[in-house]
Amino acid sequence: MVNQRPALIILTENAQDVMETVRLAREEDLDVAVQSTVHGVGRPADDCLLIRTSNMTDIRVDAASQTAWVSAGAKWGHVLPTTQAHGLAPLLGSSPDVGVVGYTLGGGFGWLGRKYGLAADSVNYFEVVTADGQLLRASAKENPDLFWGLRGGGGSLGIITGMEIKLYPVSTVYGGFLVYPMEKARAVLTRFREWVDSVPEKMTSSIALMNLPPLPIVPEYLRGKSVVMVRGCYCGLVEEGEAFIQGWRDWQAPFMDAFRVMPFSEVASISNDPEGPVPGLSSGAWLGELSDGAIDTLLRHMAPENGDSPILMTEIRHAGGVISRVDPGTTAYGNRDAELLMQIVGMTPTAEAYAHLVQYSARFKEDLEPYLTGTVYMNFLEGRESLERVKDGFSPEAFERLTRLKAAYDPENRFSFGFNIPPVDRTN
Ligand SMILES: Cc1cc2nc3c(=O)[nH]c(=O)nc-3n(C[C@H](O)[C@H](O)[C@H](O)COP(=O)(O)OP(=O)(O)OC[C@H]3O[C@@H](n4cnc5c(N)ncnc54)[C@H](O)[C@@H]3O)c2cc1C
Repeated sequence: MVNQRPALIILTENAQDVMETVRLAREEDLDVAVQSTVHGVGRPADDCLLIRTSNMTDIRVDAASQTAWVSAGAKWGHVLPTTQAHGLAPLLGSSPDVGVVGYTLGGGFGWLGRKYGLAADSVNYFEVVTADGQLLRASAKENPDLFWGLRGGGGSLGIITGMEIKLYPVSTVYGGFLVYPMEKARAVLTRFREWVDSVPEKMTSSIALMNLPPLPIVPEYLRGKSVVMVRGCYCGLVEEGEAFIQGWRDWQAPFMDAFRVMPFSEVASISNDPEGPVPGLSSGAWLGELSDGAIDTLLRHMAPENGDSPILMTEIRHAGGVISRVDPGTTAYGNRDAELLMQIVGMTPTAEAYAHLVQYSARFKEDLEPYLTGTVYMNFLEGRESLERVKDGFSPEAFERLTRLKAAYDPENRFSFGFNIPPVDRTN
């Protein structure tokens, strides 16, 4: 998906390497990009010095303090088994293949989100190399302004070499998904709208409309089908979680029911994101309401009888809970009060498919506009959109504060490949 031609690629092994690399970039007057998995690239790393952190995978769990030190290149798939061995859970998202640092810098909303909040809200401190090549610690006490900006502000203020995160005592959940045929999508969406208002914060759930290709990467029972899925994770007494899902079963029997008492180590089976690299493009927006009009528009673009949609999945995740109760001034992350997070994903095996998908999803979002809040969740934007819509990921005050921080920590905008946040004097 990403074609990039960096001037030089450096595989860093530790913080010292990162410091030396940033100093070298200054001497050579090169901009610096940083990637671990290459899942979330906005601007390709062209003509720059590219730091690949994928070898930096050290993880240290301190079970007594329920924390873990996670190095810059670790994926959630490295962290989850290590922490689960102590009965503890990190706030990972739907896929274990995603990098812990990239995910967390953008907010980080996963299956424990409504109960324990965003990954960004569970960082104790970051170790970060700033544009002058210094290694700093950013926490509530040390460099608190930088700490504020790194939590939600993306990777444009410095290179994280590692961070300490909070863990939570979760080893079993009631999780999974129900599958209904697309013909029932209107009824399922309408019920979901009411249901999310009745569930406690222990339940994080989503609804996904899917047009699945007839390809071997799709599980056989879904290959070539159009379906609507109710997904969820209940983090509390499993009997309580089961009762909430039983309500769906009693309402209408799904054609597949994969909800179960689940070891949290298997949480990735709720979304079943592809394990290997797949050429795809993600877009998204916050929905203000799942009204009848919004449902009509979703179905117009997703139901196969209305034409050949290039969109593989439109998922609406139920946010809120603890996320919305954190004082918005605490971190750079915006949109805490928004509750319905929409993500649109399509496959892009060719340049033509890419162009068609970009055009189609722009029209889809235009039609949905009356129901959108006008704001975005940066982690779900890719490609040009991730560069152009950065302001909509933050409150105006937070964006302005980020541009001031950028001027203080990276005045030459050397780290310009993360969220596109210009130093303040360049915005005037
Ligand atoms: C299959 C899949 C499932 C996903 N599910 C979720 C989900 O449930 N919830 C959610 O919130 N998001 C989710 N995402 C989005 C994901 O959080 C973003 O794509 C994120 O940017 C990926 O980070 P990465 O490190 O894996 O990718 P990379 O492409 O390696 O990094 C992405 C960006 O992060 C920054 N970055 C990475 N490492 C550093 C560092 N050491 N220092 C400074 N900046 C750095 C850089 O700006 C880089 O361009 C998902 C993505 C995929 C592909």
